[in-house]
Amino acid sequence: MKWTQEAEAAIKKVPFFVRKRVKTRVEEEAAEAGVDVVTLKEVNRTRARFLNKMEDEVAGFQVEACFGDGGCPRQACGSRGLQEKVKAHLEDEDILGFLRERVKGKLKFHHELRVAFADCPNACSQPQIRDICIIGAMVPETSETPCTQCGACVTACAEEAVTLSDTGPVLDMERCLVCGRCVAVCKPGTLVGLRRGYRVLLGGRLGRHPRLAMEVPGIFDEEAAFDIVRYCVAFYKARSTGGERFSRLFTEADFHEVVLRFRDRSLTAVGSSRAAG
Ligand code: SF4
Ligand code: SF4
Ligand code: SF4
Repeated sequence: MKWTQEAEAAIKKVPFFVRKRVKTRVEEEAAEAGVDVVTLKEVNRTRARFLNKMEDEVAGFQVEACFGDGGCPRQACGSRGLQEKVKAHLEDEDILGFLRERVKGKLKFHHELRVAFADCPNACSQPQIRDICIIGAMVPETSETPCTQCGACVTACAEEAVTLSDTGPVLDMERCLVCGRCVAVCKPGTLVGLRRGYRVLLGGRLGRHPRLAMEVPGIFDEEAAFDIVRYCVAFYKARSTGGERFSRLFTEADFHEVVLRFRDRSLTAVGSSRAAG
C-alpha cells in the first residue's frame, strides 16, 4: 500500500517497540475503509486508538520473520512451515490466557513471549535478542563433481572458510556460518547443500539487562527445532509464575539441559565446530 510522505514521517515517530504493529494496523484499517493511499489522517486515527488501548493489543506472543520467503537470494533454509507450526502451538498453549492469569496488573508488550526467524545468518529480523531465535542454515559439502577452479566459492565466502587446493575446495567448518553462499555460486555443483535446517538460540533480550541468545550446538531439522520450541514453551509455562519473561528465567544451567537433551537430534556432529561432520 502507498503512503504519503507525511504519513511515513508520522509513523516514524511512533515508539519503536510498537511501530511495526501500528503500521500493520494502519494498513489493515485503511484497506477496510477502501483507502488506497495512507495519509496522515489514517495514521493519526489508528495511532490514537492503538496507543490509548494498548493493553487490548497485547497478543501474548510475537512471531517475527525476515523477508527470506519474499524472494531473498540469501535464504539458506526457508522457515515458513516451521513458523506456522510454532504460531499454532503458541495459540494452542493459550499464551495470552496464561499471561492474563499470571500477571498482576496490566498486561504490557514486554510480557509477551518473543520468537524470531531469520532464514540465513545475516539475521535481518534481529533474532538473537528474542526469547527463541531460529536461523536457517545450509551445510556445505563437496560432491563427486569435479571443480573447475573458478574461485567463485572463495570470493563468495565472507568468512574466509573456503580455500582451493589442486583437487578442489577445502572447507574450514570452524569458520563456516552455514550460510550456503558458496553452494549457491558453485555452478558445476562441486559444492552441495544437502543438509538444510535451523540453528536454535535461546534466551535473548534487550531492555535494562540485555543478553544475546545462547546457541544450542548443532543444526536441527524442522521436527527437532519444533521440539526444542515446545520444550521451551513448556519450561516457560512451568516456571513463569508471575508472567516473567522466558529469557529472565532461562539460566545457563537450563540452557545446558537443552543442549544435552537435544544433542543427538542434530543433523551434524556436535563438537567444537558448529557444523562439523
Ligand atoms: S535474514 Fe537472510 S534470508 Fe532473511 S531477509 Fe535477511 S538476508 Fe534475506
Ligand atoms: S556456507 Fe560456510 S563456507 Fe560456504 S559461504 Fe557460507 S560461511 Fe562460507
Ligand atoms: S565455485 Fe565450485 S567450481 Fe568454482 S572453485 Fe568453487 S568449488 Fe570449484
